[in-house]
Amino acid sequence: MADLQILLIGNGGREHALAWKLSQSPRVKAIYAVPGNGGTATCPKVSNISSVSASDFPGLVSFAQSNGVNLVVPGPEAPLVDGVEGFFRNAGIPCFGPSKEAARLEGSKTYSKDFMKKYNIPTAAYENFSDYEQAVAYIDSINHDVVIKATGLAAGKGVILPETKDEAKAALKEIMVDRAFGDAGSEVVIEELLLGDELSVLTFCDGYAMRSLPMAQDHKRIRDGDQGPNTGGMGCYAPTNIASKELTELVDKTILEPTFAGMRREQQPFRGVLFTGLMITADGPKVLEYNVRFGDPETQTVLPLLSADTDLAEIMLACANGYLDNCNLTIENKFSATVVLAAGGYPGSYAKGTPMNLQQPPTGSTIFHAGTALDGDQLKTSGGRVIAINSVGDSLRAAVDAAYAALKAKTIEFDGMFYRNDIAHRAFRASDTTKESMTY
Ligand code: AMP
Repeated sequence: MADLQILLIGNGGREHALAWKLSQSPRVKAIYAVPGNGGTATCPKVSNISSVSASDFPGLVSFAQSNGVNLVVPGPEAPLVDGVEGFFRNAGIPCFGPSKEAARLEGSKTYSKDFMKKYNIPTAAYENFSDYEQAVAYIDSINHDVVIKATGLAAGKGVILPETKDEAKAALKEIMVDRAFGDAGSEVVIEELLLGDELSVLTFCDGYAMRSLPMAQDHKRIRDGDQGPNTGGMGCYAPTNIASKELTELVDKTILEPTFAGMRREQQPFRGVLFTGLMITADGPKVLEYNVRFGDPETQTVLPLLSADTDLAEIMLACANGYLDNCNLTIENKFSATVVLAAGGYPGSYAKGTPMNLQQPPTGSTIFHAGTALDGDQLKTSGGRVIAINSVGDSLRAAVDAAYAALKAKTIEFDGMFYRNDIAHRAFRASDTTKESMTY
């Protein structure tokens, strides 16, 4: 029976992927995307809503009440960190996402580092500073490479990897004195630089039970060969060949189980989806960061690996209401690859409003919009990471080849578009050296 009316908050590629999967649920009657994008607008059951702002929580509650909404899905971190879950809890409407207090795992890097230390969760050694002079003195006193992180949300820009002590001090000045990220820079974490392969894992949790999705590998740099500046993510694949059964079990035992148990001990059970960024170091997996929501482009990559009869709406409701153990969550024995198409100039300045031309993608491939908007009937660009193509295949090679074949067949076209040509290159390089190229 179609009994669910969902309020989906956000307008990125992640939200299009969520709308795409949620709309397949037989239980879902309607999805209201606030504000949504050019992709959500074309999903079955979805209406884009512009009459209420995504940051107006009382307005969202009254919209939900007037429209019979019985499940709320905040996509981005900002509403969660600002406490949107509490507004809906008080109104008696289930919300898929952590409380404001639990969202500090992402909202405050000093909180999350102290939490990891308290519960012995492996992470980079660190010190927190709220005093600029002391932070500078610390840089002078150490002899190893560091990473500097503004404590608060900084739209993905608050993490700096300096190459020299002077660069480190300049970063501290920018964050703590010049307040380049506002109050997010009132405190900084200075932590040891970790080396290894970076992976991410998305884990559903209802406070007690947890279920992870296949580990994924994002590609942060703008250019092939991991060159150039960092971006929001230029492509992704899953599962990764690094995520062996042993590694997955180790991550569960040493990181995920202690994280959710720790949150219960803190009287802040975590409900929603936890995105854990991991560095697989020579000393084992360590946490780089927690995010308290789905990642982008990880979501576009892992949701297509869920079986057709896995009901994402049911899983989200179960996380909010505490019965995740009773849900079917089946992952297909397949591989998935996502290639992001960006607007010329991104991650610097770029044009918006460029007309786009899309063709129906081949079977097994899905287009996920991120920075797009409809202008009448014409689809136009409206962001830097504009759109992505995802393909699923029986091997990673098949998935990657299908995504690039769809792009070569001009499935997506707009002036100035560009994309990386080497998504999943680390997996292929690893298999080349072991000569076990067929599974990957
Ligand atoms: P975060 O937002 O904390 O995940 O940091 C953003 C990116 O910076 C990560 O995805 C890593 O690539 C990098 N990073 C963060 N912390 C470290 C670290 N301790 N060592 C090496 N790289 C890091």
